[in-house]
Formats: sequence, C-alpha cells, structure tokens
Amino acid sequence: MEAVLIKAKTISSAWSQLIHEIYEKGEEHKPDYKTMTKRVHATIYIEDVENLQVNPAVPFGANLIRKYKEELTEEYADWYVSLSDDDKRKFDYCYAKQLFRYGETAYNTVHANVSNLRPGSRRHVGVLWENEVHIPKYEDQPCWIAYKVELLNDTQVRIYLLYRSWDAFGGFPANIPAIVEGFKKVFREQNLAIKIESLIATGWDTHIYETDLQAVEKIFKNNDLCPMCKCITPKHSFISTTKGKACPECKRSM
Ligand SMILES: [Zn+2]
Repeated sequence: MEAVLIKAKTISSAWSQLIHEIYEKGEEHKPDYKTMTKRVHATIYIEDVENLQVNPAVPFGANLIRKYKEELTEEYADWYVSLSDDDKRKFDYCYAKQLFRYGETAYNTVHANVSNLRPGSRRHVGVLWENEVHIPKYEDQPCWIAYKVELLNDTQVRIYLLYRSWDAFGGFPANIPAIVEGFKKVFREQNLAIKIESLIATGWDTHIYETDLQAVEKIFKNNDLCPMCKCITPKHSFISTTKGKACPECKRSM
C-alpha cells in the first residue's frame, strides 16, 4: 500500500488531491465484508480550513454538511444520551457523545482539553475509541478514533485527527468542515479568541469504495487538478495565463 503525503491550501484542494492519489495509486483491498475498495495510507496537511471548504465535485450538497456540523456539538451529545437504549441502537455510534460525553462517566474530553491548553504542549489528546466497547464488536465502530489540539501561540491552534478507516470520497469532504466547526463552536462558547491555524489528518486506511469508483472516473474524465491550487476543476474552465494553465479562482487572485 502507498503512504502518501498531501499538502493543501484548502479543504477543497485536499479532497481533490486525495481522490486523485487514491484513483492513481490506490491498492485494491477487500475488507472483512463484501465491498472492494482502493486505498492508501494518507496524511493530509491543510493550511486554511475556513475558505473553499467544499469542492463543487463532492457527491452531496450543502444540506448534508449542515447536518454533519449539527451532529458534532455538545447539544447533540446530550440529545443522544437522552435516547432510550432501543433508539440508540438505530445509530452506529455517535461522535458527539465520544467527544463530549465519553465513556461511562460521560467525560467531556474537548472541554477538558480546551480549558487546559498550554502553548507548545503535545498532551491535549482525546480518544473517541473505547476499548471495552469497540474491540469486541465486528461492525459499527468509530472510524475517527483520536484528535489532538496544539496551542501554537496565544491565538492559534493546530488540530490533528486520526482515522483508522476513512471514506475519502463521501466521508472526508463532510467530516473535515464539520470537525472544524465543532472545535470553533467550543472556542466561541469558552470565550477564547482562538483560530485554527492548520489541520493535519491521518487515515491509516483511506479509501474509495468500488461503488464510487465510476463516479470518480467520471470526475477525472471531465476535470483536472488545477496546476496551481490543485483543486478539481472542469477541463473547459481553465484559462491560459503567463504562468501557465489556471483555474478561474487562481486567475482571479493573480
Ligand atoms: Zn487553481
């Protein structure tokens, strides 16, 4: 399996490059259920998590991103905890619970880490995976398993994420904006003037499902990565410039 490192200015560019890498270099892999995948091990560094979050080629609309954002809040964790056990079983797992009401003591890992931030510290880590609960299961385990928040200076943090298994095509482009929003909401609520300076995500097994490969093939038939920002861009919309081919966005900012 290839191990790839992706450096991107925006989430849109990160997704574009990730899909391209998996499509080009991905190893065919059959997990312990029927669906085939193409996969890489990926570390993705994103410089700006605020602008150009969603590439127009992602396979869903703004509504789904809004829904994911709502589901990564303390309020959602409380709503989930209030459900009867029968209703809880309708959900695979709840990331908000794992972040804000973790384990039997309902420990708020995000609140505790954020209230305790010390510049340069590498110790502000939270785990979403519960050994006793998730190791004995054969399915419905969290894919996102850990995060770290690092305070870089008085006003900036870097967020690190770790996924054991990650759907690059449909999961990644919804997960990252939602996680960014989830942390920003916590900073706001704690009256901290903190901005996310960058985000680094690692997926041990970052894949495209076979059922999505046709859609990806179609994307690269009609689109190319912009040589400058490396965002998936319709082939017909590239503009020739003195510095070579550019997407309309890059042309505007020249
Ligand atoms: Zn561009």
